Amino acid sequence: MPSPASRSPAPGSAESLAEALIRRDRRALARAITLVESTRSDHRDEARKLLQHLMPHTGRSIRLGISGAPGVGKSTFIEALGNHVIEEGHRVAVLTVDPSSAISGGSILGDKTRMETLARRPEAYIRPSPAGETLGGVARRSRETLLLCEAAGFDVIVVETVGVGQSETRVADMTDMFVLLLLPGGGDELQGIKRGIMELADLVLINKADDGLEKLAARSANEYRGALRLLHPRSEGWNVEVRTCSARDGAGIAEAWATVLGHNDALTAGGQLAARRARQARGWLWSEVQDSLLADFKEDPDVRRHLESLEAAASEGKMPAASAARQLLEIYLKRRSGAQE
Ligand code: GDP
Repeated sequence: MPSPASRSPAPGSAESLAEALIRRDRRALARAITLVESTRSDHRDEARKLLQHLMPHTGRSIRLGISGAPGVGKSTFIEALGNHVIEEGHRVAVLTVDPSSAISGGSILGDKTRMETLARRPEAYIRPSPAGETLGGVARRSRETLLLCEAAGFDVIVVETVGVGQSETRVADMTDMFVLLLLPGGGDELQGIKRGIMELADLVLINKADDGLEKLAARSANEYRGALRLLHPRSEGWNVEVRTCSARDGAGIAEAWATVLGHNDALTAGGQLAARRARQARGWLWSEVQDSLLADFKEDPDVRRHLESLEAAASEGKMPAASAARQLLEIYLKRRSGAQE
């Protein structure tokens, strides 16, 4: 009888997929990502099993969030940074969180021509935003894809988001460090950066410091340094840095990477990184609970039968919203307790 240790997993099982992925099989990684992106409930079950197998192989990467308004140079920067870190011996995965691609069915982030030189390298893996109906869904799948990429041996994970909505907060919630790209001159409002995004940044980069804009970029950097001093620091043990760079020419890229490493060292030494990741994991747990409960609630046939009329009663002011909500919850809970008997 074979000992448990020599037992090989059944082909096609979550366990065999996990083993192939840990062996850095790219096709296994692609299959695993397709699985976690699926909304089918049997796929969700498989995805959970897969992630369970992979957990011991996750967590050993630098997780970097990158944001900035469209056109600021994010993909140019990620390509330059990605090529730089590969030269340093790393393997880099680039994920995008772009809810607009879910709505429009395609966007600038889905453009295949982006990051061409990086995409060709075997040490890089680029994954566009998953299609999903909500930002929550898109973010959840990106979070799981991040874990898959770590298990497949990528030790630098870049999560990119377009700087136009709520997705920045989600990305900051799944990464160790948040980098905000800005242009020389002009306030952040002018640059399409929403209020509050500045407060998420650990590193601000003024890009396109070239073609005669070097001085303006340096002046903008100084202004941002002044403004950031007034903000509460995001991380204990780290003061937000502001730098200039030219992603196109490669100027300031090595310095930006050195700052990322400095941030990682500082937060690792002080224990803040472990604390941040633990906090994030707790947050993910609760958002999973919330999402699952809500999905179950909305699928309940009794709830669905009463939903329209109660929603109408609340919106027309015939019934307090709280009472309508209570009634729906009672309908739901009654059915749940009935189902258990
Ligand atoms: P994204 O929309 O933020 O991803 O921006 P892209 O990386 O697609 O860049 C938008 C435009 O800015 C492209 O035409 C790039 O060639 C250009 N660009 C990107 N980085 C730089 C830079 O450092 N300097 C200059 N002059 N142009 C840049």
